[in-house]
Amino acid sequence: MYISEYILTYRLRNGRHLIFNSLSGAMDIVEEHISQFLQKQQPVAYTLTADEEQFLAGRGYLYREREEEQALIRRYKEYLDQHGSGDISFVFCPSMTCNLKCVYCFEPQEIRSSHEQMTEDQVQAAFLAMDQIMQQQQSTRHHFVIFGGEPLLPLNHSIVGLILEQAKARGITGTVISNGVFLSHYQELLEPYKDMLRIQLTIDGPQAVHDRRRITRANEGTFMKITAQIDSFLEHDFDIAIRVNLDGENIEHLNELLDFFQERQWNAYPNFSVSLSPVENYAGNSAPGLLPSYQLTEFIKVHVPNDKLKRLNVVLNSDLTRLSLPFEHVLGTGLAKDNYFPNYYFCEAAGGKTFTFSPDHQVYPCTSIIGNPKWSLGTYYPQLKLDDQKLALWKERHVLNQPECKGCNIAFLCSGNCPVQADRTTGSILGAYCGNVKRDLDSHLELLNASFTALS
Ligand code: SF4
Ligand code: SF4
Repeated sequence: MYISEYILTYRLRNGRHLIFNSLSGAMDIVEEHISQFLQKQQPVAYTLTADEEQFLAGRGYLYREREEEQALIRRYKEYLDQHGSGDISFVFCPSMTCNLKCVYCFEPQEIRSSHEQMTEDQVQAAFLAMDQIMQQQQSTRHHFVIFGGEPLLPLNHSIVGLILEQAKARGITGTVISNGVFLSHYQELLEPYKDMLRIQLTIDGPQAVHDRRRITRANEGTFMKITAQIDSFLEHDFDIAIRVNLDGENIEHLNELLDFFQERQWNAYPNFSVSLSPVENYAGNSAPGLLPSYQLTEFIKVHVPNDKLKRLNVVLNSDLTRLSLPFEHVLGTGLAKDNYFPNYYFCEAAGGKTFTFSPDHQVYPCTSIIGNPKWSLGTYYPQLKLDDQKLALWKERHVLNQPECKGCNIAFLCSGNCPVQADRTTGSILGAYCGNVKRDLDSHLELLNASFTALS
């Protein structure tokens, strides 16, 4: 008999134990002696009854031998590699310049102040590189992102136009990620492409809150400028996704912000949606005031009525729900409707699925580290030259290749955390950077303890 390596156990207030297998997704409440048995506590003071053994095997906590679990791990990975959500993402940064200095921005100031711009030749070369990469990866699924800096600056007009023209010629869809300050300058240019585009704009709270966070270099707020331009885009059937970056400084104002969207009747448009995201510190540059994701989702659960979230077409991104998803799902209290599936790759950058074309001719594997030559995978201009070894490191960056993660009981729930942070703290993107994962999971389970106890 072999006990799975991927079992999390948690003691409930009534002495029973919650057990969760991060590989199979099974979750059960059992007596303490079973939990101790699964934790391989020594000396083994208990022999399972035949019924118990059958139950635990049926739920994926026990196997006849280790190889059975290994085979399951391989099958899941094959499935994920073939059917996972991982389109290849091609990110175009027309320039790295930005007109704002948001308080939590992860891009270093010197990069945001750079005046380098993509040229037309670079855009053409980037698309040729995209074609080559798709061929090399033997993939057909891809999308594009226009990013920066701020991509929709007036100075980028013709380059953004060329990127859209090239993308349309290839029939691929994409997203423009903008701060929205110069949105109207682009309405005419974007019009012929609106069926293949989503425009993501960030609004972080009602005016007073947003204007403390998303400010111009002259310290002016941007709320009025941005919101005044959105109506016309919605009326013209543009797909507008408002992103709200949440932390301790603005979470209490989320309700008020959603009321504002409703007062403006933006939710009357089917092409309007809201996406909630935690402010993260992946790149190590962002501001204090961050809150663990479970605290943000708990706040939303308690203070924002569910029907309001539905009415306003609000979704929570996976950074908010990753760790809590299976637990909330069992309790029926989750804000995300997805089912739990074991994950091997932490983000779309891990797995080598992101190629960012920067004005400095370099290709970067993640959008948080653009402009730092240490992270370059190679160049796309004048032609594509990638360092195969560096690329292989990102492609192979999954929990099973991270020595510490591979043996971690929550490996397939955490999925190995951020490669950039891993490198920063351990010197290798394959290193184990747990950050606050275990602490936050433990605190969240403590919060849910009474609900699970009531179930048992
Ligand atoms: S990063 Fe830490 S918590 Fe996450 S899987 Fe690896 S060892 Fe486990
Ligand atoms: S490596 Fe992944 S998690 Fe880390 S900053 Fe890049 S995209 Fe984000």
